Amino acid sequence: MKRRLRVDPIACKAHGVCAELFPERIRLDDWGYPVLDDRPLPDELVEHARRAVDACPRTALHLVPIDERGARGRPELPAGDEQLLP
Ligand code: SF4
Repeated sequence: MKRRLRVDPIACKAHGVCAELFPERIRLDDWGYPVLDDRPLPDELVEHARRAVDACPRTALHLVPIDERGARGRPELPAGDEQLLP
């Protein structure tokens, strides 16, 4: 399953940690907010992306699965949090 990054613009507070940890796909704009490369992540970059997601102090960065048509699904939740979904 392919994945891409998504940011919650309300939760993000422009810490910039994500861009430091994953410069291959995240850069910062002039105000320090992340600008994400929207392309699906190749398998070799998924662990780097996950590290940036885990380090976000606002839990504003997410890995989302995408189907073959490019539609996005729900954010991946940490193990054990699946019961939070409706
Ligand atoms: S680490 Fe999180 S809060 Fe900081 S800029 Fe990235 S997404 Fe936003």
